[in-house]
Amino acid sequence: MPAIILDGTRIAQDIRSEVALEVKSMAAAGARPGLAVVLVGHNPASEIYVRGKVKACEEVGIYSEKLTPDESVTTAEMLALIEGLNRRDEIDGILVQLPLPAQVDAKKVLLALNPAKDVDGFHPVNVGFLSTQRPGLVPCTPAGVMEILMRSHIPIAGREAVVVGRSDIVGKPVAMLLTNANATVTICHSKTHDLAGVCRRADILVAAIGRAGMIRRDFVKPGATVIDVGMNTVTDPAEFQRFFAGNAKREETFRKRGSTLIGDVHPEVAEVAGALTPVPGGVGPLTIAMLMFNALKAAKMRRGGRVAEMSRT
Ligand code: NAP
Repeated sequence: MPAIILDGTRIAQDIRSEVALEVKSMAAAGARPGLAVVLVGHNPASEIYVRGKVKACEEVGIYSEKLTPDESVTTAEMLALIEGLNRRDEIDGILVQLPLPAQVDAKKVLLALNPAKDVDGFHPVNVGFLSTQRPGLVPCTPAGVMEILMRSHIPIAGREAVVVGRSDIVGKPVAMLLTNANATVTICHSKTHDLAGVCRRADILVAAIGRAGMIRRDFVKPGATVIDVGMNTVTDPAEFQRFFAGNAKREETFRKRGSTLIGDVHPEVAEVAGALTPVPGGVGPLTIAMLMFNALKAAKMRRGGRVAEMSRT
C-alpha cells in the first residue's frame, strides 16, 4: 500500500490561522506582536525568503519591519543595529537573514540578539533551554517537523527515531525535540557505518542531509513514518529522469521551469513507508508558519502572557 502523504501545506495553514486568531486578540488589547527582519545586501535567494516572511506577517496580522543594511556593512554597525532592535519594546522578534557578507562576524551578530527575541531559536541560550526542557524559542524547521508528527497523530513516545543529519539548525534540534517527546533517538551523519541498517530500525526516520534522493527503499522499515527535510534543486535532465521518469506532473514542471525540487528521500520510498512528507509541500511550508508562531510566542513570553497550548514544542 502506498504511503499516506502528510500534507504540510494544510498543517501550516492551520497553524497560521491559529496564530492569526491570537494575534488579533493581542492587537485588540493594544499589544500587536512585531517582527524585525534584517536583510543585508541583495542575495536573490535571501530576498525571496524575506519577501515570504514579510508577506506571512501581513497575513497573520503581525507588525513587520524590514531593515536593509548595505552589502558593505561592518560587524560593529550590525551590532549597533541589533542593540537598537533589542531595546525597542514594540519589536518582539528579530530575524537576521543568513548568510551575512564575509566581512561580518555572523556568530557575534547572532550572539548579540536578545534570546527572548531570537525567533530563529539559534542563540545558545535557546539551545540550552531546549536541551533542558525549559520554555524558550525553538528553531522553526525542527518545530515544524514535530507539528507534522503530532497533528498527524503519529505516535512518538517509546518509538525508535533516527535522524540523518546533525546540523545545529535542523538535525540536532529535531533529535532533541524527539528525545523530549520520549522517542529513542539515534543521530546519523557522514561517518555513520551501515547507514541503511541504522535507518531501517526507525519507526520515525527524519532525513536532513541535503543530498537529492539519498534515502532509498532499503533504508526504510515497511510502515515507518518518513519526514523529508531536504530541499535540493535538480536541473540536470538525466538526474531528473533517474528520479521522476514517468511522472507526468513533474515532467511538466521540469519542462516549464528547467528545474524541480526534490528532498533527501527517493520517490520509491513512497512504496514502502507508512507515511511520508512530500517535497515540495511537506516540511517546507511549516518553516514560515513556525516563524509566525515563534513571533507570537516571543510576544507572549516577553509580555508575561501564557503561551498557548496549541504547540507542544
Ligand atoms: P547541513 O548543515 O549541510 O548538514 C547536513 C548533515 O547531513 C550533516 O550532519 C552531514 O554529516 C550529513 N550528511 C551529509 N552527507 C551525508 C551522508 N552521505 N551520509 C550521512 N549523513 C550525511 O544541512 P542542513 O542545514 O541541516 O540542511 C539539511 C537539508 O535540509 C538541506 O537539503 C536543506 O536545504 C534542508 N532544509 C530545509 C528546510 C525547510 O524549510 N524545509 C530548512 C532548513 C534546511 P556531517 O555532520 O558528518 O558532515
